[in-house]
Parts: sequence; C-alpha cells; structure tokens
Amino acid sequence: MEDTPVIGRFAPSPTGPLHQGSLIAAVASYLDARSADGQWRLRIDDVDRGRSRAAAASAILTTLEAFGLEWDGPVQYQDDRRERYQAALEHLEAAGQAYPCGCSRREIAAAAHYGPAGMIYPGTCRSGIPAGKTARSWRFRVPTGTLAFTDRLAGEQSIDPAEAIGDFVIRRGDGLHAYHLAMVLDDADLGVTDVVRGGDLLTATFPQILLQDALGLPRPRYLHLPVALDEAGSKLSKTNGAPPVRPDEASRSLGDALTFLGHPPPTFLSGAPVAGLLDWAVQQWRPSAIPAP
Ligand code: GLU
Repeated sequence: MEDTPVIGRFAPSPTGPLHQGSLIAAVASYLDARSADGQWRLRIDDVDRGRSRAAAASAILTTLEAFGLEWDGPVQYQDDRRERYQAALEHLEAAGQAYPCGCSRREIAAAAHYGPAGMIYPGTCRSGIPAGKTARSWRFRVPTGTLAFTDRLAGEQSIDPAEAIGDFVIRRGDGLHAYHLAMVLDDADLGVTDVVRGGDLLTATFPQILLQDALGLPRPRYLHLPVALDEAGSKLSKTNGAPPVRPDEASRSLGDALTFLGHPPPTFLSGAPVAGLLDWAVQQWRPSAIPAP
C-alpha cells in the first residue's frame, strides 16, 4: 500500500447535526488525507433507515462546507447500495462464511455468555436452523485464532474473535444489512486507504477486518482518535444531546478541534477564516502529536 495514493473519508451517520466530536473526526481525517496530497471522500452512513434523517444528512453537508471541509467526488449514500451488500452476503453464505439464524433475541439472551464487548452468540444455528424455525437474521461465521491489527495511534491490538465477538449479525431481523458489512464494502469501493475516526470505534475494527479478509478486500490503515468528552465526562454524541457546531462560530470550533488534536493554532491565526486555519493545519499535520487515547 506504500505507493498507493492516500484516500481518506468521513462517514457520518445522519441521525442529527454535526457536533464537536464528529467535527474532530472530520477534521482529523481531512488533514490526514490532504497532508499526504490525498483525496478525502464523504459517505453518509444511512444504512439504518429507522435512525437516519434526510434533513440531518443535508445539514451535515452544509456544515462541512461552512467549515471549509471540501470533499472529493460524489457523496456516497449507503441507502443506494443495498444490492451490493446483499450480493456480498450471498457470496459469504455460498462460501460457508455466513449462515441464516432463526433465533429470537430472547432465545439468544437465554443461552449466550458475555464477552468484553457484550453478548456472544451461542452458535445455535451454526450448523443449520433447527427444525420448525425460519431465518430471521444472517450471521458471519467467526474463525478461531488470533486477529490483530496495528492502529496508527493506539498500536498493536489483538483478540481471539471467537471468544471476544462470536458470530455477529450481518443482516438484521428487519432485513437491513448490518453496519459492519455495509461499511467494509463502502470503504473498499471508495478505495479508502486510511480510516481515521473516533476511538469509540476501535473495537468495531475487529469484525470489520474479519469481513474484509473473508471478502478478499484490502485492509486500510486505521487511526482511532481520542474520544471527545463533555464536561460530565460522557462521550460527545448525538444521543447524549451534544450541541451542534455552529457555522457562525466555525473559526473558534475549528480552532478547538485542532487544539484537541494536539495542533493548537498559533495566536496570529486566532479568529482567522477557516480556510486559513485549515491550510496551516495541513502543513503542520503530525499524527504523532495527537494525544494518545
Ligand atoms: N457512521 C459512523 C458514526 O457516525 C462512523 C463510522 C466510521 O467512521 O467508520 O459513528
């Protein structure tokens, strides 16, 4: 991958307006790509129809523009790509790497045990759906052994996926494809070489890598950022009601994001237009200056 041109991306879920935590991820992925003369792509992660709002997606685009964060190429929408996801699922199933599951939530909860990331599927339907049941969801057949990757900031990460994750859902009971399956196909089709995103997604990298390997897709490099917290110490998130960033305060919010990322702008740039701040930051970008998560 050394000689491949860098392609980064920002992939917000359109469940609400951009807040300071998502601005930080947008800025870091933008700077990482632009400082390598690379492309920066934008994807709207709207695979989860029930949680996605078209108005939130268009507000995110407008806000990114107001912050001077210009993306390359057309915006990719997951909602347009369901056939691609289904074809990949069928490929995995034909290869024996995915299987239909007839278990209800209640049945799983009764038989599951708990790993570090939550409930581990007990494997009931691994060798076929028991008689009298029908397929509800589809699961990925997780291999045994060690799974490792090196995060550009957090360093070496490794788990035994069978113990830590178990067979995870790639198509949900409501027929929607699961996020892990969608995003690995999206990143591969965009040619993403570098995923830069919030540290809350560090452990999500494991199922994503398993799917990349199973589908013969290249593994991008990963850089997980420290998680931005509010004053009470909770993660800034739309569900926690983090306030939206305001285009009329773009310079200050961008300065705060750069400071959070270990690149505090010099005083002469205080209050400067966002384009000036971004130009400066592209020149200065050093991932090793980001405080470790
Ligand atoms: N759509 C995810 C979110 O907004 C980000 C996923 C990613 O960057 O891989 O949390």
